[in-house]
Amino acid sequence: MFKNKLIQWCEQGTPPGAGLELKRKIFILNLFSFVGFSITATLGFSSFIQQNFILAFCLLAAALSFFLGHYILKTTHNYKVPSRGLLFALSALMLYLVYSGGVENTGPLWIYILPPVALFLGGLLSGLIGIFIFILCCTFLMFFQDGILLATNYSLTFKLRLVYSFLTVTFLSYCYEYSRKLSYQSIHELSDKFEKLAKYDPLTSLSNRRDMLEKIQTEVSRLSRSHNPACLLLCDIDHFKLINDTHGHEAGDNVLRELSKQFKSMIRQQDIVARWGGEEFLFLLPDTSLSNAQIAAENIRYKIENSTFNTGEKNISITLSIGVSNLSEHSSIKDSIAIADQYLYLAKQNGRNRVCSVATHPKLP
Ligand code: GH3
Ligand code: MG
Ligand code: MG
Repeated sequence: MFKNKLIQWCEQGTPPGAGLELKRKIFILNLFSFVGFSITATLGFSSFIQQNFILAFCLLAAALSFFLGHYILKTTHNYKVPSRGLLFALSALMLYLVYSGGVENTGPLWIYILPPVALFLGGLLSGLIGIFIFILCCTFLMFFQDGILLATNYSLTFKLRLVYSFLTVTFLSYCYEYSRKLSYQSIHELSDKFEKLAKYDPLTSLSNRRDMLEKIQTEVSRLSRSHNPACLLLCDIDHFKLINDTHGHEAGDNVLRELSKQFKSMIRQQDIVARWGGEEFLFLLPDTSLSNAQIAAENIRYKIENSTFNTGEKNISITLSIGVSNLSEHSSIKDSIAIADQYLYLAKQNGRNRVCSVATHPKLP
């Protein structure tokens, strides 16, 4: 229950469509402001009760800025301003703890929080610059005229060890953040690769059957709102087996690749062509009536008939048979594809190298 509430709270301020890395950063920023607020507010009140008013004021001011960081993120969805504000408030508080010594000189123990938080929220370069400015300020405070600027006393050994160990933690945090970024990048690249593999046909780089079905589904949802017509063209290469048998499978592959390029160059921007099966292609033509789809199909058939395709060794000609159907909000996608398939079958039966649709055959046999 508390866990779910905390997760919800930490996700506040995430802009719609944010990437994985930004989501993570916003989550950590919110979590940090929650933890930071709780700790500094508690310590602030405790210092107030112990009548250490300056320390109480600094802690409560830091608690307020941690809370504001979350509030700004939640209301503006802007990550940069609150993350910088939070890092600034944290550095200022740490500097004050070094200056004052905090409770019984334990204040400097808190400065180790800064490197991992600054590198994660601020990024590798800006985070590192911020950390170095901070440690320079600390060093100046502690060593200038043997600590004359400090409100407390530290031994020389303590001051030197504090700087060394802080630099070591910075170095280790940097290595950790760097390797985390590298592994995030490779995961990102891998997921891009898998997404491509899942959506596109590797031979032709056209959408595959699965991706095409999703796109048709989107189009059907759109046309049920807009009531604009949309059509499908199912297209099959005639006697493709003969090309493989005569020129070899590699030549057949070259023809499929070249044909796909030609298809892409022929269609409008809003149209989509997919590799539906071996030598079958499916076109989705949004905002197109059946009669215009018939014209578009005829145009494709004509252009391909009059093109030549390089098999690797010689140029050959091919022809296409095409079946046309329309998409409708009243019938299923499966039915529309089945009708295009039946018209394609009719085109094959009627001698190939032709387009068949309801315009050529008002009634399917
Ligand atoms: P039809 O005019 O009736 O369509 O005859 P067809 O020879 O085109 O049809 P058939 O279904 O008999 O043969 C299709 C051929 O397409 C058989 C198969 O080897 C070939 N094919 C399917 N996918 C690929 C591929 O990726 N590369 C190559 N080179 N050939 C393929
Ligand atoms: Mg064929
Ligand atoms: Mg076929």
